Amino acid sequence: MSSGLKIVQKAADVRSAVLEARLQGKSIGFVPTIGALHEGHESLVRSARECTGYVVSSIFVNPKQFGPKEDYTRYPRDQTADAAALERLGCDLLFAPGERDLYTSSDRTRISVHGLDEFLCGSTRPGHFQGVVLVVAKLFNIVQPDEAYFGQKDAQQAVIIQRLTADLDFPVRIVIEPTVREPEGLAMSSRNEHLSTGERKRAVALYEALSEAKRVIEAGERKPAAVKQSMLNRMTRAGFDIDYAELVDGSNLRPVKNIDGLILIAVAGWMGGTRLIDNIAVRVAGTGVEEIVLEFPEWSRYEWKR
Ligand code: AMP
Repeated sequence: MSSGLKIVQKAADVRSAVLEARLQGKSIGFVPTIGALHEGHESLVRSARECTGYVVSSIFVNPKQFGPKEDYTRYPRDQTADAAALERLGCDLLFAPGERDLYTSSDRTRISVHGLDEFLCGSTRPGHFQGVVLVVAKLFNIVQPDEAYFGQKDAQQAVIIQRLTADLDFPVRIVIEPTVREPEGLAMSSRNEHLSTGERKRAVALYEALSEAKRVIEAGERKPAAVKQSMLNRMTRAGFDIDYAELVDGSNLRPVKNIDGLILIAVAGWMGGTRLIDNIAVRVAGTGVEEIVLEFPEWSRYEWKR
């Protein structure tokens, strides 16, 4: 059981709290976030609570993952509410650094996970994933978790972080949890707060487009163009300014020519001034189509090397 949430701002305080937990024989679970917590984040904390002995979450609105014209300044921030939610969920430690606690003006290191950021969000958000992997690498080094939890909602991010972890030998198991949705299907997101009531209703078209894509594939379609068109139609009708509607290979994130194997069906678009993303993963084998939670092959995991 948790004995209350401890909140720290400095890396050194994270290290000493984690060391103490380790000395008590506890495994460390980690849930990195940029705050404005909702049930999607909460499901990650719950899983970490179930599977590890000491749960650390971080809240850091990372400037390096926002482009110059993106919503860094208007991103919702409410640490009091977030801390209350984490406490309720039995999180042990909240790491909430300020920008100067993580970065200095003399930083020079950049990390990029080549190839996996060419398509989907990588093509319209230049530098975004470089910002994400840099902060995740730093957080992994500070927290040194055994397991880190990410949501399928940000599937490209999850695949890139899994690759980063395997390539740099971080001894961390990456766990992907399913996307948590509103009852009508809209994926939960901190950015949903920016939607008007009307926009929120129309935004459900993202999930409808994905569900329709799955139905078209279940009906036997194996060419991506036809499936893409059905998604584009649905999103356009709802008033989305479309960023992409793609079918990519779930392991290398490259657009597929044929729908077969592990396929990530992903969409992104602007509803008014708010950019929303969503995806589903399906495994297609012959006539069989099964929706799955994104998974990584065992050989890509750290344990494989030990
Ligand atoms: P963020 O705070 O947006 O960076 O998200 C922190 C973590 O929560 C990431 O691993 C996200 O993929 C995950 N997440 C965000 N929204 C959801 C959701 N609706 N369902 C599941 N996980 C989510």
